[in-house]
Amino acid sequence: VCPTGALVERDYSWQVIEALADPEKVVVVQTAPAVRAALGEEFGLEPGTLVTGKMAAALRALGFDHVFDTDFAADLTIMEEASEFLDRLTRHLNGDKDVRLPILTSCCPAWVKFFEHQFPDMLDVPSTAKSPQQMFGAIAKSYFAQKLGIPREKMVVVSIMPCLAKKYECSRPEFAENGNPDVDISISTRELAHLIKRANIDFLALPDEDFDKPLGESTGAAVIFGTTGGVIEAAVRSAVEWATKQPLDSVDFTALRGFQGCREAKLPVGDLTLHIGIAHGLGNARRLLEAVRKGEVEPFHAIEIMACPGGCVGGGGQPYHHGNLEIVKKRAEAIYREDRNKPIRKSHENPDIIRLYEEFLGKPLGEVSHHLLHTHYFKRSEQ
Ligand code: SF4
Repeated sequence: VCPTGALVERDYSWQVIEALADPEKVVVVQTAPAVRAALGEEFGLEPGTLVTGKMAAALRALGFDHVFDTDFAADLTIMEEASEFLDRLTRHLNGDKDVRLPILTSCCPAWVKFFEHQFPDMLDVPSTAKSPQQMFGAIAKSYFAQKLGIPREKMVVVSIMPCLAKKYECSRPEFAENGNPDVDISISTRELAHLIKRANIDFLALPDEDFDKPLGESTGAAVIFGTTGGVIEAAVRSAVEWATKQPLDSVDFTALRGFQGCREAKLPVGDLTLHIGIAHGLGNARRLLEAVRKGEVEPFHAIEIMACPGGCVGGGGQPYHHGNLEIVKKRAEAIYREDRNKPIRKSHENPDIIRLYEEFLGKPLGEVSHHLLHTHYFKRSEQ
């Protein structure tokens, strides 16, 4: 049984059209990292063709008031998640028995729901950091709404996701304030392609355009969230630099990359060797977590888990790839290409993220961050 109910595909395109047609609403859109590596396939382009600029232009042509990037929020996720990892690791190394490792990534809602059902005795293990989609919504409807001088109820946040479980994630009641959700509507890469075609926009003829500011600036670390191993690599780029207080010689932690369903890497950091695990596909995730629970494997410090084979590039909302992993790999290659081409490749160096903390959040894991950017988990087996 699909843990999120995503097996029955729900099309929310009409909700987006209605929001765009409402003159009373300010409609803000965010696009996840993996979408730009696959959307072009719906318009006849080869798998692995990046269409970041055309996608931004198409969203503007559709009538969105502000065209932003979930990658901005992926950088924000790293600020919080890497800080939490370092905090837990430090306390663990200092002998604090209340701290459990490994920390698990928490940005995949299908994985989170699966975990809540299947591992209710380990709910203190995943990072409490919200997913980038939800961090974006929380910041758009607070920080950005304040900048615009409008109440949050006047803003509609739309997300374009490679994922069908994201529709479920934004309906979770904890991701709302007084019943007003942080993210109002989530549509898939396929639904966006249909919207563009319905609007008779000549996608291939569009010029490349940039995202708007201030929630559109991102780094290479954020882009790689779209593929298996990318979230933990992005976190390691920041955590290692913070821990050693030295600039990294190279940001490319290639030991964390690949397509093997369950893999591990050992990264030397000063006197410590970080033991990192990665699983994609829920069967692999279950096997790895059961082994961790039973103590059958060498203890890990951190594990990244994604429900879809290949991570979000292979997500259920992407153009159909009919199980052809070569297509998913080409999308992943495009993601790493985008990372290499970015002038900034570490989340903590994103200037608009730095400004967000200076102007609004204070510091990672601070009071405002805790309220807006962190969450908690539920024992589903008892509900
Ligand atoms: Fe969604 Fe799949 Fe990505 Fe998880 S791995 S966030 S289910 S697309």
